[in-house]
Amino acid sequence: MSKFISQQFISAKSVITIISWLFFTMAIAIVGILSYFLNSLDNQATLELSQRMELALQLENQHKESLIEEYTYWDTTYQKAIVEKDEQWVEDNTGGYLIDNKGFDFSLAIEQGEKSAYLVSNEAIIPPRFDELMRKGLAHMVESANELATRTKTSTGYFLLNDSLYIVVGGPLLSEETGSVREGTYLALGTKIDTELLSEFSINHQIPQLLLSFDSVQPKYGSGIYTPNGKRIGSFSWRPHRPSEDILPYVTMIVVTFSLVTIFVTRFILKKEQANRAAYEEKLFLEATQDSLTKIINRRYFLDIGRKEFTLYSNESNSLSVVVLDIDYFKEINDQFGHGVGDKALIHFTQICHQGLRESDIFGRIGGEEFSVILPNTDANKALTVANRIRTLLVDNPFDVYATQINMTVSIGVAVLDNTSDFDTLIEQADIALYKAKDNGRNTVVLYHPEMALADNN
Ligand code: GH3
Ligand code: MG
Ligand code: MG
Repeated sequence: MSKFISQQFISAKSVITIISWLFFTMAIAIVGILSYFLNSLDNQATLELSQRMELALQLENQHKESLIEEYTYWDTTYQKAIVEKDEQWVEDNTGGYLIDNKGFDFSLAIEQGEKSAYLVSNEAIIPPRFDELMRKGLAHMVESANELATRTKTSTGYFLLNDSLYIVVGGPLLSEETGSVREGTYLALGTKIDTELLSEFSINHQIPQLLLSFDSVQPKYGSGIYTPNGKRIGSFSWRPHRPSEDILPYVTMIVVTFSLVTIFVTRFILKKEQANRAAYEEKLFLEATQDSLTKIINRRYFLDIGRKEFTLYSNESNSLSVVVLDIDYFKEINDQFGHGVGDKALIHFTQICHQGLRESDIFGRIGGEEFSVILPNTDANKALTVANRIRTLLVDNPFDVYATQINMTVSIGVAVLDNTSDFDTLIEQADIALYKAKDNGRNTVVLYHPEMALADNN
């Protein structure tokens, strides 16, 4: 039994596609907005790190400057190192104290502007040459010391000596009493910046992956290293911490998981809903097309199918027969045994008909105790055979009820497709033949022929 009416609903598949797209768009929007905020956070973190680096360098320099300050403000330094040139004093104080205990690698004092009063260095380094130091920026530091606005006039500078980077802190010797600069004198302390020192620095100030390079490429995150003369000799670089790298994978994972779960839940609900709807549609369809007592198709649906079959067969000029069956004296069964038994007799009758029919035959209840069958690919002879088979079957199979047997008979009219105008006419013709069968004494089969209609009209 095929369905002819089917309501169009939005399919679960397209709802899922729409929802999937909505979630996809939402996920992109969320990730986009989040990336924007995380990017600002990254920029903030990057800026904060370079500020921290700047501050760390300042602190280190201040520490060194405070050490040299002790010596430049000490008249004994001037007396012993410059005036008396006391080698033992220099050895004990700059060599023993500053170089061995405070992490400096060389110390020097300048006399009258360009002459060195002394230059001592740690054994672990190649000793720097005084003229090279002067040329690479110390002369500049000495010269500009007086112009410095600071109280102690100390300053710091970077030097590239023997392929190693040094940081030099220096200042002019001052008078303890007046605080004025002793003209032409200068005291400087140098520290070699090696990997050990650099990693210590990066741990102390929490600068991740701090690197030192001497190429001319400006690192993306870093700062240039310049001599006091203003010549670029290298750069410090570091890898900034990017909060987005930590957060974004988690957020993406959460959004994707949430979207997938929602899509699957929606899919599950829709599939279930669709199954319920299909079952309900089936129920509605049966209610609209089936006869509730005999479970065969009802009059309206039978005529629907009949009209369609008719068009098909008349176009293809195949044979098609219609049979109308009316149970004889059915009223008497009702009167004698009651309506309930009458109902069961109708069911018995349909079962007998099923036995005599093929799967392809279309069998419907068109009235109270009136039935009809459309027989596709069936000519008059075959249709008469089928009709007689049903009639005989009914006679041979009485209806058993309350230990009695009810003998039922049926009168049958047959009409065959023969250039007839429409299906309803074909049914009418079968009906005319049926009346003829009743007239002929019932329990009989009559084939319609045109004279019957004329005779009827007369
Ligand atoms: P005939 O041989 O001329 O066809 O006689 P008949 O008694 O079969 O015909 P009639 O039209 O006089 O009576 C048909 C009866 O069928 C009347 C009605 O009560 C009965 N009937 C119709 N539908 C049903 C039904 O669904 N159940 C029962 N039990 N009886 C029905
Ligand atoms: Mg009747
Ligand atoms: Mg009848």
